[in-house]
Amino acid sequence: MLPYPSQSLPFQPVDDAGPDDSGEARAPVAGLHLRAALDGLEAGLVTFNRTLDILFVNSRLRSMLEIDPAVAGGVGSLLMLMEASAVLSTTVVQQVHEACQGAVDTRTPQEVTLAAPGARFFSLRVGGLVDRHWMASFTEVTAQRTAEAQAVERAKCDPLTGLLSRTLFHDRISVLLDTGPDHEPTGQPAADPPHPVRHAVMAVDLDRFKSVNDTLGHSTGDGLLCLVARRLRSVLRQHDALSRLGGDEFALLVSPAPDRTVLDQLARRITDVIGRPYLVDGHLVNIGASIGIAVFPEDGATRVELLRNADLALYDAKAMGRSTHSFFRPEMDARAVARRLIEIDLRKALALRQFELHYQPQIDLERHAIVGFEALLRWRHPERGMVSPAEFIPLAEEIGLIVPLGEWVLNQACLEATHWSEPVTIAVNVSPYQFEDTNRLVEAVGRALSLSGLPGRRLEIEITESVLLRNAEPVLAALHRLRGMGVRVAMDDFGTGYSSLSQLHSFPFDKIKIDRSFVKDRDDDVGQNAIIRAITALGASLGMATIAEGVETAGQLERIRDGGCTSVQGYLFSRPVPVAQVAGLIAGYNQFQPTPAY
Ligand code: C2E
Ligand code: MG
Ligand code: MG
Repeated sequence: MLPYPSQSLPFQPVDDAGPDDSGEARAPVAGLHLRAALDGLEAGLVTFNRTLDILFVNSRLRSMLEIDPAVAGGVGSLLMLMEASAVLSTTVVQQVHEACQGAVDTRTPQEVTLAAPGARFFSLRVGGLVDRHWMASFTEVTAQRTAEAQAVERAKCDPLTGLLSRTLFHDRISVLLDTGPDHEPTGQPAADPPHPVRHAVMAVDLDRFKSVNDTLGHSTGDGLLCLVARRLRSVLRQHDALSRLGGDEFALLVSPAPDRTVLDQLARRITDVIGRPYLVDGHLVNIGASIGIAVFPEDGATRVELLRNADLALYDAKAMGRSTHSFFRPEMDARAVARRLIEIDLRKALALRQFELHYQPQIDLERHAIVGFEALLRWRHPERGMVSPAEFIPLAEEIGLIVPLGEWVLNQACLEATHWSEPVTIAVNVSPYQFEDTNRLVEAVGRALSLSGLPGRRLEIEITESVLLRNAEPVLAALHRLRGMGVRVAMDDFGTGYSSLSQLHSFPFDKIKIDRSFVKDRDDDVGQNAIIRAITALGASLGMATIAEGVETAGQLERIRDGGCTSVQGYLFSRPVPVAQVAGLIAGYNQFQPTPAY
């Protein structure tokens, strides 16, 4: 770094050339040689007089601060010069001005670090020369500052749990991998390549943490994270590193790593201890842990590869049904690449208008008429063709795209339904993820209705049982608000998942959609029929209509009718069709009724 200028630079010639400090005369300040020397310095220099008028500016300062060449000639006030910089903000210009004024007023050297926009830093030193002239020198110190900031970051632990920060954890892995093979230094070249020590990285992610945080609040969430950290620490050896990478993500470094059987036991032990109940702020809380494991060197030769593969394994564990663990396998890589490609396309698909809605009719068995359509999303991919929602909805949910996408579906379905000849209902599937922000959902429904002009009673939203399992209170409140707009609510896929008949009491659903699995022909038809009858009877007693999904054959239709179901939907009547075919379907069905349009 440049020593303080007044001690090290030959300033006399500056004085020679300089006029008095009246600010009137502005002769060239330095001789050619001196000017060349000053221009060649690494520091940017400007000299000025008592009234802060410029006497000399070296070319380095002009380039460093990107000073407008029209102003950079060295004539005018210091303030003007600084204001002509494309690098300094108004605040920084003010700081420079104050430092220079301070040096003049107090006759003591000033030193400040200037934080310019774009995370650039400059060190400014202002000092007096002889003969009431002053000099300001600027040095760019961005690189040093960044390095210092990184060092500070490295020293930090996670303030909540006291565990290693992400940066520190990464450093630990790098150091271990760089230490190289584990062999005693003998001074002799090894005959065989030595066996490296094995290290295992475990990526740990908590299951259901988000719902605890959402329902019980962040302070309880924080308390829970601290308890989790303590339990994790309790199962590790002293020298194993444990980090909270952020949110509810933890990672551990087991080194040296035992063999896979022992790692497997360790992972089980972790899922077990994390899965035991917690008492936080008087609440009994249950969460789980999913774990992905990658072992050096076989699962990754570098830190980046190891962490990435542990993450892929974690993803696999979550897909297997949570509270379990997976070891990395090479095929996970190929799957992740394919998934990533779809994800990239999916993010663009909404803007590229690649989505469309197909409509499947719902038939009332008593009136023999089409009484509604279910809107089913389709993705017309330029290379893959029509992609099924079963393939992309879970991904859209995972990357958060489901919220804008679901809003697009609502708008589009309501808009298209206003053009139909019959005032039939339009059923729209709403993802559980859209219920995470219930206000936004209710507003989106309201907007879709008002933009399209569709009466609320013609819109039906389909939700699945899982929606009611989390955050039941805000969800129920939102459903009541939707009901207030006249919108109907149907329980989709009833009979799958957590299905409990008691859920039907929690909200006055307008309709129960009996899942296709009960309609399919199976050996135990008697049992299936009994279930269908039980659901329709309960629905009837609660004033809810029942519709059977996935009716494909006349035989199934008969069974459903016998079971007391009031309406049906399925390939027997029609597959989901593009919007252009809806009018024909309505006209055709009404023409040929009561025989279904096969
Ligand atoms: P879902 O809501 O239960 O929709 C019924 C699914 O069954 C549709 O599949 C439909 O094409 C199919 N289906 C109808 N009749 C028959 C039949 O007779 N036999 C058979 N084998 N299948 C039949 P699709 O269109 O592939 O949609 C799958 C799921 O994707 C939907 O299940 C729904 O959960 C989800 N989905 C579709 N569109 C949307 C949407 O706009 N938003 C959200 N969040 N989810 C959607
Ligand atoms: Mg549905
Ligand atoms: Mg369904």
